[in-house]
Amino acid sequence: MNIYGDYGNALVLKRRLQWYGYDPVMLTYDPGDEFPEAPDILIGGGGQDSGQDRIQQDLLDIGQRLHTLADQDIPMLMICGLYQLFGHFFETREGSRISGIGILDAETYGTDSRLIGNVVAESSEFGRIIGYENHSGQTYLGVQVTPLARVTTGEGNNQKDEHEGARYRNVLGSYLHGALLPKNPAVADFLIGTAVEQRFAEKLPELSAPSSAPLSLNALTDQARRTAASRPR
Ligand code: GLN
Repeated sequence: MNIYGDYGNALVLKRRLQWYGYDPVMLTYDPGDEFPEAPDILIGGGGQDSGQDRIQQDLLDIGQRLHTLADQDIPMLMICGLYQLFGHFFETREGSRISGIGILDAETYGTDSRLIGNVVAESSEFGRIIGYENHSGQTYLGVQVTPLARVTTGEGNNQKDEHEGARYRNVLGSYLHGALLPKNPAVADFLIGTAVEQRFAEKLPELSAPSSAPLSLNALTDQARRTAASRPR
């Protein structure tokens, strides 16, 4: 699934890996495709309830494979609709349950409120995380996961506990679109750094972004972060 720019996360990972000197191969996966043999990073996006319904069976079919990869510490980033389905279930407003695969110990309930707007959240590991939410499902975390961040602007997982996202091992779930990674290079580098360490047993080298960009990479990122954070909800 892919909504509100989530595909941008894939582009950021690819480009940053190139800047770090690697030669990434980006594969797409749709229901029914053959699941890749040994993926280094897995990312997934959001979708409407109807899209979640459509991919559900395929996700359940590959669920065991995904559990194995998660327990091998493969880094993953799942946004919104797939975040919900990496949890135990998404119960729609009408009361029907779309089963998830339960890698993340979390439950999601459809509500009549739609949570929309830019979000600012503080994470002890990644610093300030900025993104855009648009969901009516509200997610509650169990004890096997930790929240990704604490919301200071916006709602995040739900309207009660100020939590945004979830983490189990190297699997991150988040409600933040926009896409998330262009505005949050610390999260991108966590995914990349973890994958590089696992694949090559080495630390990330120095980043060498092209100097031909009109603004430096950091300046562009900072500008996007400031703009998003200053917009009214
Ligand atoms: N359908 C889900 C909800 O509204 C997910 C939406 C999304 O992925 N943006 O809660």
